Amino acid sequence: MREMPPVEDLGSGMWSVPVPIPDNPLGYTLVYVLESPSGPVLVDAGWEHEDSWQTLTSGLEKIGISISDIHGVVVTHFHADHSGLAGRVREASGAWIAMHHADIEMVRRMGSFVGTERHDFEIGQLRRAGASPAELADFPKAPRMDPPALPDRALSHGELVDLPGRELRVVWTPGHSPGHICLYLEDSGHLFTGDHVLPRITPHIGLYSFDDEDSDPLGTFLDSLEQIPKIKAAEALPAHERRFTGIAERTAAIIEHHEAKLERLADLLTTRPATLWELSSAMPWRHGWESLPIAARRMAAAETAAHLRTLERRGLATRRLGAGGVVQWTASRPSADTR
Ligand SMILES: [Zn+2]
Ligand SMILES: [Zn+2]
Repeated sequence: MREMPPVEDLGSGMWSVPVPIPDNPLGYTLVYVLESPSGPVLVDAGWEHEDSWQTLTSGLEKIGISISDIHGVVVTHFHADHSGLAGRVREASGAWIAMHHADIEMVRRMGSFVGTERHDFEIGQLRRAGASPAELADFPKAPRMDPPALPDRALSHGELVDLPGRELRVVWTPGHSPGHICLYLEDSGHLFTGDHVLPRITPHIGLYSFDDEDSDPLGTFLDSLEQIPKIKAAEALPAHERRFTGIAERTAAIIEHHEAKLERLADLLTTRPATLWELSSAMPWRHGWESLPIAARRMAAAETAAHLRTLERRGLATRRLGAGGVVQWTASRPSADTR
C-alpha cells in the first residue's frame, strides 16, 4: 500500500486531500478543493467507504471547511475511486455533481442491467474472444457495485464550469473512460488530469465489448493525449500518485509506451488466425498471464482488444468470424510486407 501524503495547501485557494481506496494498490485518490465565492468545490470525491468518508471530512475540517459547505463536485470520470463519495457529499451539503455527458451515459448504463443480463452479456463476449469453457465456468457471477450517484449537471468540451470567480475549463480527454475530462484552472495555470496523465503509471485503456467496431478507446486516448501539451499548463494535479511538472514529456512517454505495445502486438499477428485470448496470453503482463484470475484476464484482454482495434484502424489487423462464433485475428498482409 502506498503511503498517504498529508493534506496540503497548494496556494491560489487550492488544497489536496488524499482519500484512501481500501485494499487497492493505487492507495488513494487525491481530492482537490477549490475555493470560490459560491463556496468550495471538489474535483473528484473518492471511494465510497466509511474510512474514506471519515478521511475526506476530517481532511476538509483541517482546512476549515465543513462538508456541509461544499458547493459542487466536478467528477473527472465515472470510476468508483472518483465518483464514489459524490452522492454522499451531495446528501450532506446539497452540492451539485457535474460530469461529462458521455460518462453520465455510462452511469445510466451501469444501472440499466437487470438480473443476469450483464453476466450473460459478458460471458458471450468472453466466448467470442476465445476463453475456454473452464474459464467461462470460473467467471464470477457476484453482483457488481451500485452505480455512482447520477450527476445533476452534464459537462461538454470547452465550457467553463459554472463557478463564479474561477475560470475552470473542461477539456474532454476520452480513452480511459468515454467521458473522461481534465480541468484547466485558467486563473492559476494548473491542470487537473484525473487518471488521463499520471506521473508514473499509465491508465488502463480497455475495449470491454472486445469486438465493437464503433469505438476505438486507445485511438481516442492517444489523440486526447496529444492535446494536453498544447494547453501549456504549468503543473499537473493528477488524481493519483503526486503532482508534477514536465507535462509534455510525460504525455510523450505515455504515447511511446502504447506505440511499443502496438508494435509488439502487430508482431504477434501472422497469416495464421489467432483469437483475442491467444494474443492476450502471448503479451507481457506484470504478473504473467497464467497467474491472472479470469476477471483480471478479462481486463487484460480488454486492453489487448483496444490495441487490436487501433491496429485494425491503421490497416494492420483483420478480423473474421471463425468456427463456433469465435473472432479470429490475422495480420492484414503477410508480416514481411508490413514493415
Ligand atoms: Zn479511472
Ligand atoms: Zn482513478
